[in-house]
Amino acid sequence: MPADSRNPEISVSDLLLYINCPRRVYFVSRGFELLPEINASRLERMLLKELSLNYPEIVKKCSLNADTLCKELESALNQACEDLPLMFPREFARIEEGILEEANARARAKIPEIAANLLRGLEEYGKDPMLAALTPVKTEPFLLSEKLNLKGVPSKLVCFEGMNVPSIIKPGNCPVQGVWASDRMHVTSLALLLEAEFGGEVPFAFVEYVSFGLLRKVVIRSSDRREVLKICRRVEKIKAGFMPEKTEEKFCTECTFSENCVSNPSLMSKFF
Ligand code: SF4
Repeated sequence: MPADSRNPEISVSDLLLYINCPRRVYFVSRGFELLPEINASRLERMLLKELSLNYPEIVKKCSLNADTLCKELESALNQACEDLPLMFPREFARIEEGILEEANARARAKIPEIAANLLRGLEEYGKDPMLAALTPVKTEPFLLSEKLNLKGVPSKLVCFEGMNVPSIIKPGNCPVQGVWASDRMHVTSLALLLEAEFGGEVPFAFVEYVSFGLLRKVVIRSSDRREVLKICRRVEKIKAGFMPEKTEEKFCTECTFSENCVSNPSLMSKFF
């Protein structure tokens, strides 16, 4: 089917929303705003993401010493704290006083663990491979596939073992081993986009769990590709107007759409 006769173009963020809850895709595609609360925990994640962008520089110039690594990370965090309000003025216009300080303190408390894990990674994988996996060759490139009817932006592309592969920055929790299923779907969708854009197979990708200083390599399997393609088709249907069944999701109590999200789809006509 030609791309222009298909459903509305979908983005990787739609796929992530679908994995969260299919109905959220429906609400967002109909103009409802997903407004996550700007609290200390969200600001902490934003700070840690900014901090992680400095990991390659820090790792490059630091001797393998926990103290110097911690000092460099602290100074980069201070800088991130100064820069963040300038980078996100709209978000900062609606935060309460003291929240940034609280977020800064929470992020600072993570530095010893980040430093210890970065050092462990350096010892285990070696400085050059670690730097290759951390250092962007492109930051937030826009990727588009007309064939997949999909667009997306990886946090960065890194050149590892002679190949450009996607890497995503995740400031949330980290599983004991491997990556979360949703992160696997996230990097797989970006690998498919990268293949569509530049050709050749993208056999792996990286997930950076930046709150812990951990870097995980993900081998992209055929079953991951199949799952992403399946989700793409479901998201297309939802964006074209199909309302998925409401399931009792663990996110419902904190969901922005809970007031409008009713079990009986016929009642939805009240809102649309
Ligand atoms: S209220 Fe629950 S089912 Fe409805 S959109 Fe939100 S998370 Fe999904």
